[in-house]
Amino acid sequence: MYFNPDTLAFVDGEFVKAEAAQVGAYAQSLHYGYAVFEGIRAYATSAGTRIFKAEEHYERLHYSCRSIGLPFKYSVEELTDITYQLLEKNNLADAYIRPLVYAGEPNMTLKHASSSNLLIAVWDWGKYLGDQSLRLSISPYQRPNPKAVPIEAKVSGHYVNSIIASSEAKGRGFDEALLLDMNGYVAEGPGANFFFEKNGELFTAPQGSILRGITRNTIIDLAREAGISVTEKFFTPDELQGAIGAFYTGTAAEVVGIAAIDELEFSVPFSETLGAQLAERYRALVTGALVAQTA
Ligand code: PMP
Repeated sequence: MYFNPDTLAFVDGEFVKAEAAQVGAYAQSLHYGYAVFEGIRAYATSAGTRIFKAEEHYERLHYSCRSIGLPFKYSVEELTDITYQLLEKNNLADAYIRPLVYAGEPNMTLKHASSSNLLIAVWDWGKYLGDQSLRLSISPYQRPNPKAVPIEAKVSGHYVNSIIASSEAKGRGFDEALLLDMNGYVAEGPGANFFFEKNGELFTAPQGSILRGITRNTIIDLAREAGISVTEKFFTPDELQGAIGAFYTGTAAEVVGIAAIDELEFSVPFSETLGAQLAERYRALVTGALVAQTA
């Protein structure tokens, strides 16, 4: 699914066959989760393939490298240019893009790496959490303590928390987990930000224990442009009582509705909520239709 014999990936300055891209068993990143990555999407638009918010994503990749002391020599412009070339070489317009900066040298020490490697992979990927409204369960796992790790960086090792939380929820028959932070406030999903709608307004967790996603920021902008109030605040699961809807946002998931959180069932179908209106505007924005409409 991620590649076939013809797929090309970008590895350390060259376009190579994806199936030949390898990492050594002694790589520091493999042993310690010491790597950073991005999740980006490109969309087919009337003006051709367009990478959505390439600059924001590649700036965040730089920030993630700095956060863990991983040296990285590519500029945002170079990365964007390489990604467009890679999409073209693979004949992809609608695509998911996965840059990974890793320490591939054999190294078992707990010191910052002195060099890094870059992989950029691209593939065709539908909405990560599907199209149907999700049934979530509050996870017994919390999001990592922001005083233990740079929580706003997309560090590979952080995703062990995501894998175990998501798998645990699925093991109990739910579609996905919803994680609280160390203080018991609702934080986010394993790979997406959480919003809920109550009394005609939207609420989402503030900076603290979450990755403030690029999709989250886009949705906040779209909501405010549409005159919808969005409040960033800490809230406990109890405050979800009386909410009429909720949704997850993320580059891979895009905007996906939430039908229930444990025994709390939302009273209104997702299609009738603010989240659905914003999902439509988001799609129009990423595919270039919203620009055309307002131009
Ligand atoms: N939170 C977590 C933990 C994530 O992994 C992601 C996906 N990158 C998000 C939120 C959403 O971020 P974005 O909208 O930038 O993809």
